[in-house]
Amino acid sequence: MVPDKNGYFGGFGGKFMPETLMFAVQTLERVYHKFIQDKEFRKELNFYLNTYAGRPTPLYFAPNLSKKLKIKIYLKREDLCHTGSHKINNALGQILLAKKIGKRRIIAETGAGQHGVAVATVSALFGMKCAIYMGTEDIKRQRLNVYRMKLLGAEVVPVESGTRTLKDAINEALRDWVTNVQTTHYLLGSCLGPHPYPVMVRDFQSVIGREAKTQFLKIERKLPDYLVACVGGGSNAIGLFSPFYLDKSVRFVGVEAGGCGLNTGFHSATLEKGKPGILHGTKSYVLQDKKGQILSTHSVSAGLDYPGAGPEHSFYKDTGRAVYVSVTDKEALEGFRTLSETEGIIPALESSHAVAYLKKIPKHKTVIVCLSGRGDKDMEQAVKYIKINE
Ligand SMILES: *Cc1c(COP(=O)(O)O)cnc(C)c1O
Repeated sequence: MVPDKNGYFGGFGGKFMPETLMFAVQTLERVYHKFIQDKEFRKELNFYLNTYAGRPTPLYFAPNLSKKLKIKIYLKREDLCHTGSHKINNALGQILLAKKIGKRRIIAETGAGQHGVAVATVSALFGMKCAIYMGTEDIKRQRLNVYRMKLLGAEVVPVESGTRTLKDAINEALRDWVTNVQTTHYLLGSCLGPHPYPVMVRDFQSVIGREAKTQFLKIERKLPDYLVACVGGGSNAIGLFSPFYLDKSVRFVGVEAGGCGLNTGFHSATLEKGKPGILHGTKSYVLQDKKGQILSTHSVSAGLDYPGAGPEHSFYKDTGRAVYVSVTDKEALEGFRTLSETEGIIPALESSHAVAYLKKIPKHKTVIVCLSGRGDKDMEQAVKYIKINE
């Protein structure tokens, strides 16, 4: 799906930015359009994706879980990427673009810390200065990732405003960008923000779906019935879905964080419970009250704990190309445990949402699930919530 020249997918997207950032956003748009088609650029990006990030990632047939659920399940193993999640695909793409624009400093936001770690990693690789904005609530919850970022040479900037979580970190990163736009690239972590970020992040993540499609066709000699992925901002999901956009027989299911349940107010189910609005420079579904104030969100997985979702997903929802569902914290924790026990693969709590949804897929169908990340970062949460027989 190609957005219009103003960056709209149907009624969603655009760029709602302060004047001071318009020039930077337009420069990025020009450079992105120039290089995304450029053979040399693609070659350089592929070099780093293959030799540094560990691509292509396997498409693994999960025999035990398939047998248990009576569907045919393939896992796209983004958990095997360097730094432990799909975030590195986009971080590498954007830092190479930043180099082309001549930027020497990188800033980013992070919630769980996965994006922060990916950005700190590529900044170390390319010798760039790096500052990561992170809410103090998340700093507390994700101590080990804070240490990782510092070890990689990044400065972690604590954010005390608002609910002290991801959306507040994005606000502060935008403020930094306004001040330092001459030298600095804002390396946004999901398919959000003003145009060209949603389409650019989508393009860098669509390596997931392109690989999965080739791999699946080679094994099964047909297309899958379903694609399933968790949705925070939506980058791993859109990365898997978009190369199948024109394959109308393939159903897309985005799984949001249902938290304590959609009627409790403690969830992050933006596409199911939100209304169109503007957040962080783009028009999309947003969790907001009647006056347009952003609602606070909840999820057991910090990476899904965000009150917005990308404009392309908003468009997929309204056109019916994808359906958006949710599973609760409890179901996600069950999915986490089930995949560990059946396949010997410990998924990230975010990815566990996609795994947990599989029991609702009709019998005998074939499914590709995006395993967006590995669960090592979630052990403290797991110890707290999952009791194992002693
Ligand atoms: C960040 C993250 C997500 C959520 O982000 P999307 O942009 O929705 O993909 C999901 N899974 C993992 C492992 C993550 O680190």
